[in-house]
Amino acid sequence: VAPGSLLALDLGGTQVRAAAVSPEGVVTGVRRAQTPVADGPRAIEAACVRLLRGVASEVPVVAAVGISSAGPVDPWRGVVTDPPNLGPVFRDVPLASVVEEALGVPTFLDRDTQLAAVGEGTLGAARGSRDFIYVTISTGLGGAVVSGGRLLRGPDGTAGELGHLTVDLDGPACGCGARGHLEAIASGRAIASAGEAAARSGASPLLAARLEATGTAGSLSARDVAEASDAGDAAAGAILERAFEAFAAAAVSLVDVFNPERIVVGGSLAEAMPERFFEPARAAIAAHAFRDPGRRVRIVRAALGPDVSLVGAAVAAAVRAGIAREIGLAPDFEGADLDPGGA
Ligand SMILES: [Zn+2]
Repeated sequence: VAPGSLLALDLGGTQVRAAAVSPEGVVTGVRRAQTPVADGPRAIEAACVRLLRGVASEVPVVAAVGISSAGPVDPWRGVVTDPPNLGPVFRDVPLASVVEEALGVPTFLDRDTQLAAVGEGTLGAARGSRDFIYVTISTGLGGAVVSGGRLLRGPDGTAGELGHLTVDLDGPACGCGARGHLEAIASGRAIASAGEAAARSGASPLLAARLEATGTAGSLSARDVAEASDAGDAAAGAILERAFEAFAAAAVSLVDVFNPERIVVGGSLAEAMPERFFEPARAAIAAHAFRDPGRRVRIVRAALGPDVSLVGAAVAAAVRAGIAREIGLAPDFEGADLDPGGA
């Protein structure tokens, strides 16, 4: 007899999603709502509980709940500590405890990118590998490092924030306050913002026309920049090339520093133009990385798509609840490797 279903919740700055996830990683019964950021932490907690209760009402028994949240989080206490996108008063919210009390089942919380790495490592593009790096390139840019089958966490749980690697000492300001970080050059937000600057300075006639058509600051997207580049706009092309170069430089450093077998890359921006990111990175690794790790590493597309954090949250919840083998989930990670322990 199966001990029950795994539920997963993905809390982001614009949307909350809850679903049931099978041991094979199939996501069903998805419920979603806008994140009520303006209404404060209690409203966000209530939305999470409501969506999970809805999913729970459609399965016989719930075994465990996994929560994926934008970072930073404290995975040991299940607390969302200091998230930039959930409003100014959403601080140190013990979301795992809130959900555990409301639903009466073991609940575990971790950072979205860490859980994405867990998902790709057990059921996706890094299956079978104990040394890999996960990178997501979408509006933001984040990641996770798995070394020797263990998620790299650090004592504060913040390790693996790959978006904040410095790739240009004199580069643009990052959202974190530092300068020249990978996220400040290669993320969708950074590309859009550079596109808007090029529109305003007159460097990009196509983007200037597009900005004028909408008339609002912040209305350009990375897609606009890519389309302008495809239409022959040189400034837009240069912005994209800079993003690809930044990713390539970071990839060389990741290979030299972590010696991964694979670099698994997901996120909407990378999935829209994977080879444009991957080819310069492969060339840079061949030219500049240490010889043996450079020959070993493979840069591959993520396999689990936009549900990756839901899948990873469910897998991690099963492992941390000690029921992974019982339900037929045979992760390539050992249970102890995923369990952040009692620190
Ligand atoms: Zn930064």
